[in-house]
Amino acid sequence: MKLSDLKIIITGGAQGMGAYFATKLLEAGAQVAVGDVKDELLAQLPAGIHRRKLDVSNEADVVAFVAWANEQMGGLNGLVNNAGILRDGLLVKKDRATGAVTKLTTEQWNAVIGVNLTGATWMVREVVAKMVETEQKPGVIVNISSIARHGNRGQSNYTAAKAALAANTVTWSKEFAAFGIRVGAVAPGMIETPMTQGMNQKARDALVAAIPVGRVGVPEDIWLGVKFVLECDYFNGRTIDVDGGLSM
Ligand code: NAP
Repeated sequence: MKLSDLKIIITGGAQGMGAYFATKLLEAGAQVAVGDVKDELLAQLPAGIHRRKLDVSNEADVVAFVAWANEQMGGLNGLVNNAGILRDGLLVKKDRATGAVTKLTTEQWNAVIGVNLTGATWMVREVVAKMVETEQKPGVIVNISSIARHGNRGQSNYTAAKAALAANTVTWSKEFAAFGIRVGAVAPGMIETPMTQGMNQKARDALVAAIPVGRVGVPEDIWLGVKFVLECDYFNGRTIDVDGGLSM
């Protein structure tokens, strides 16, 4: 699709990669509606972007947001399914000094699955339902997965959600073909955003050492992948890893 023809929702777009994608899409002439739990940061987005508080893990919120975005933009034909959180922890951990055994908590598990999997799925469901109800096509969905989808120490919850999102990119590409909607995904490696800025220096240095291109990614690197999925009408049902060659 042409970027200028898009009427597109971006979740988790108040900061980080989502805010970058929103700005790029606005500059390209698209209509953009951004939702995020951080409503205080939504105010800082460039003028012209529609914005509203959204918690993707709250089903009623998702339904209301999609209806609002459809109204604001006079239609809907795209989604960048970007909202995500981390609550890292080993599934089981033994303290070397004390011998104490700790476990990943139910709260850590449920929070990540609730936002990164259930929330992302509700967004796809509502956007597609709205497009089908209102007979809008063609359409395109870009799921933001992660390189952690291949498995990563300390991220059982995050890996489960991001792998499911990549797998369902295939499922949904098959289910929505009849509606003229394509579904693709981009799986970033380590990208410079508020999400990764809190990382401790030792872990960060070890990760950078494992990236063959020798640097952390920036939102522009991932935008190139998202733009490709949006524009290439022959791309469907696949996930692109954009990670500098990093193997976790
Ligand atoms: P970010 O800087 O943390 O931005 C994500 C935004 O989404 C934040 O404003 C966040 O608010 C918001 N959000 C969290 N939960 C939400 C919810 N329930 N409903 C709506 N918005 C919510 O993250 P990012 O680094 O740009 O990441 C964007 C996407 O890329 C995420 O899906 C992430 O998992 C994925 N990703 C990132 C990296 C990376 O290295 N940065 C790598 C691979 C994949 P809070 O700050 O309050 O949580």
